[in-house]
Amino acid sequence: MHRASLVDYGKPLQATEAATPKPQGTEVLLRISHCGVCHSDLHLQDGYFDLGGGQKLDVRGNRPLPFTLGHEIAGTVEAVGPEAKGVEPGSFYAAYPWIGCGKCGLCARGDEHLCNAPRVLGVTVDGGYATHVVVPHPRYLLDVEGIPHEIACALMCSGLTGYSAVKKALPHLRAGPLMIVGLGGVGMMALQFARALTDMPILVADIDKAKREAALKLGAAEAFDPADPGAIKAVRKSSGGVGAAVDFAGSDKSFAFAHAPVAKGGAAIVVGLFGGSFSMPVPMLPLRAITLMGSYVGSTAEAREMLDLVKAGKVAPIPVEKRPLSETSRSLDDLRAGKIVGRVVITP
Ligand SMILES: [Zn+2]
Ligand SMILES: [Zn+2]
Repeated sequence: MHRASLVDYGKPLQATEAATPKPQGTEVLLRISHCGVCHSDLHLQDGYFDLGGGQKLDVRGNRPLPFTLGHEIAGTVEAVGPEAKGVEPGSFYAAYPWIGCGKCGLCARGDEHLCNAPRVLGVTVDGGYATHVVVPHPRYLLDVEGIPHEIACALMCSGLTGYSAVKKALPHLRAGPLMIVGLGGVGMMALQFARALTDMPILVADIDKAKREAALKLGAAEAFDPADPGAIKAVRKSSGGVGAAVDFAGSDKSFAFAHAPVAKGGAAIVVGLFGGSFSMPVPMLPLRAITLMGSYVGSTAEAREMLDLVKAGKVAPIPVEKRPLSETSRSLDDLRAGKIVGRVVITP
């Protein structure tokens, strides 16, 4: 099998070869047709997350190098292990990548994506910037019939992340409307899921005017520029306080903007991993009765619900540029440089 491998942190990916694995037990071997290029790959390539204040979270773990990144995977079943039931060679699936140990309490309650001994494709075990990937069990293969393949792969990350965050926000909308902060790929997906799941008006905020306009076209009720010093006041005035603010950027600046206009009884939900830190006077938590929450990707159950919404035509297709495996490293560089509009999907 051919791979674009991480051979050293902070360095470009390199082409490597390995023996194509033979699936054992319940394993399924996918011949990868599409793998989305994701912002979180940049942190994995760096080997750390910026926690703000000069602090870094080391994410090198004990990943064996060379390692294959890429967690937004779709492809065709090429071979199945002797105990892999219910999947046939030749069938097309998206692979749910947020796989847990399968043994702990989190996994038992269906929250594999939060497992502390994860086997996440492209993060802790070899992933999708390759011609093949091993998926440990057929239950992680999701039916994406009717969804364009280059979109199906990205749904496993940006789609699922947006969907799960919106679901967490919904119960708080009794306190006011929803505000989405950060209109990158995930924020735009979240906007569309929110439109499908609630009749409440949806406010959006981004420093980029073109993104604000795109969001208004997708049905956002009002758009704000967080760089405008009067923006928080304007959100409060327009909404009377938002029921939930979801921060898809996840920087100190974006979160300061997101949580400020949350109404009493509302929630501020952080999804983005840009980096930074924040502080708040502790008494403000009870006085405002607000919930601070983090949301990290989503469960297999949420992935299936989300795919049903996409199959029902509730999500506009995102612009996708396809590139060959040999251009994976350049694609990460382009993403880092902000040169990518829409999504890049590697087609090994
Ligand atoms: Zn991703
Ligand atoms: Zn587990």
